Amino acid sequence: MERGDAVPVISAPPLPEPLAALRQVWGYHGFRHEQQAVIEHVMAGGDALVLMPTGGGKSLCYQIPALCRAGVGLVISPLIALMEDQVAALTAAGVAAACLHSALPAGEMAQTLRRLDRRELDLLYVAPERLASERFLALLDRAQIALFAIDEAHCVSQWGHDFRPDYRGLAVLERRYAHVPRLALTATADGATRRDIVAQLGLSAARQFVASFDRPNIRYRVVAKKEARRQLLDFITTEHGGDAGIVYCLSRRKVEEVAAFLAGAGINALPYHAGLDPAVRQAHQRRFRIEEGVVMVATIAFGMGIDKPNVRFVAHLDLPKSLEAYYQETGRAGRDGLPASAWLAYGLKDAVLLRQLMGQSGAAPEQARLERHKLDAMLGYCESVRCRRQVLLDYFGEHREAGCGNCDLCLAPAASFDGTEAAQKALSAAYRTGQRYGAAYLAEVLVGRQSERVHRAGHDALSIFGIGQELQSAEWLSVFRQLIAFGLLDVDAAGTGGLFLTEASRPLLRGEQRLNLRRDDQPTGRKGRQGANRAAPAQGLDRLLWDRLRACRLALARAQGVPPYVIFHDATLLEMVAARPQTSGDLARLSGVGVRKLERYGEAFLAVLRADAA
Ligand code: ADP
Ligand code: ZN
Repeated sequence: MERGDAVPVISAPPLPEPLAALRQVWGYHGFRHEQQAVIEHVMAGGDALVLMPTGGGKSLCYQIPALCRAGVGLVISPLIALMEDQVAALTAAGVAAACLHSALPAGEMAQTLRRLDRRELDLLYVAPERLASERFLALLDRAQIALFAIDEAHCVSQWGHDFRPDYRGLAVLERRYAHVPRLALTATADGATRRDIVAQLGLSAARQFVASFDRPNIRYRVVAKKEARRQLLDFITTEHGGDAGIVYCLSRRKVEEVAAFLAGAGINALPYHAGLDPAVRQAHQRRFRIEEGVVMVATIAFGMGIDKPNVRFVAHLDLPKSLEAYYQETGRAGRDGLPASAWLAYGLKDAVLLRQLMGQSGAAPEQARLERHKLDAMLGYCESVRCRRQVLLDYFGEHREAGCGNCDLCLAPAASFDGTEAAQKALSAAYRTGQRYGAAYLAEVLVGRQSERVHRAGHDALSIFGIGQELQSAEWLSVFRQLIAFGLLDVDAAGTGGLFLTEASRPLLRGEQRLNLRRDDQPTGRKGRQGANRAAPAQGLDRLLWDRLRACRLALARAQGVPPYVIFHDATLLEMVAARPQTSGDLARLSGVGVRKLERYGEAFLAVLRADAA
């Protein structure tokens, strides 16, 4: 075909209205949050910057206008796995979608380009570098473009955590296709990144849509670390048996060890870190996507591109370095909006390690202050006696009056005590022994243990020797941990990890300030309350039917080589368990059952439901 030829339009059914598309194609009943406002704005030709938390429903903000405006919607996405999952999900819903990336076989690539040229596509996902190709741009010049969606738009910013130089080239869109609406979407909220997106992509005239960053379905919990692995295993088996989850560890070695430990206990756990053979790593990632109930034990190398909606828990065995990182990592749980857990085991060693790292960082003063602030916030979150969600949202600039009712501290308030005297004793012990011993040793001195080490150092002769017998060693460790977390004690970074007093400890020592400390493991609430409130969506429902429906879904997914949630999301299966539809009319009424999915999968699920009713 010569350039400039009239392009034959093969089929041009009338374009649907957004709400009709939502109902027919996705089978959803209504829009969420800002979706409707964004869609209306883009339908009218406007540019938009969309900031929504993970799981907020960003995809529909561009998918629906792409379907409802004439032409193809071009989506720029940084990761192949993300593109492929989106395309699989759209295809299952009957949308003409495809993707272009470097890993595609040549034949498939050529076919997609042909479909683009014949105007057969509603949505085309491309990697950013594609827009640097003049050949591809020439092809776009003659296509009709409904919109450009720049997904994970924070990749354009150096401030962000996933900087991709190719995103800078996207400025070409504004110059070359000035009349086509552009949407930039991200879950990264901070101001510097946001301003950078606007500047780099020329979106100063774009309307900004900012949703709340709360993730109400995630239950936050911090446990005092004792035997971390055993605690993790208990958590998984009592609350998330059979669920998919992610366990984050700091080091590769620990990843391997924890994965082996969980696997040995019968959990379907796999390791993931940058040191694994790439083929093994990919195979594990694939199993996580395609199978049900895989627990990935990973370093933070396992990160962006995990858009599996039914990750039911994210557990941390080590502390992240900032609340930003923590929020992002835990945000991978419960994208589907169903109950999910963020579980963190935290102890004295974590506090010490982080303070030590900070001392070693060697950053310029301004940078060091910033890092210190971030670290203080992370430790403050761990030691909080106030609603965890309030602490998190406060940190991100969203103020909440009331507790959330869905975190460990709201469900079972922490017991606290006036720890002024204990803190003074602990600080004195550090001071009198020369500010070079760690917490374990100082606890020995306080409880008056006649160990050889204490004796050799002559510390059994000090006035503070044995003045802390009202608490046990473990309780003293908890006191030291909190003093470190609050910045009253700091950790000698270079040497042996000895604790020394900071400026901030003076008012306390002089008796000018009182200090409340929390008692670990003594929630005032009834015991077992958290167990009853476990964060599992299928809780209390017919487990047998749920398992049968999941098996049906897995079989269909396997046959098509797609992740199970592409067939139906958990939310839709749960509706099936609750409503037990027997006819296709009943089934069609459930959220997530669109016209095309009803046709393709309806009978298979109805067969399971009817057999169950019989
Ligand atoms: P994000 O990209 O913001 O992380 P997604 O677009 O993946 O979020 O949406 C999160 C989940 O919510 C998906 O499972 C999606 O199908 C579902 N969802 C989005 N909008 C709606 C809606 N209006 N009604 C029901 N479910 C929705
Ligand atoms: Zn709370």
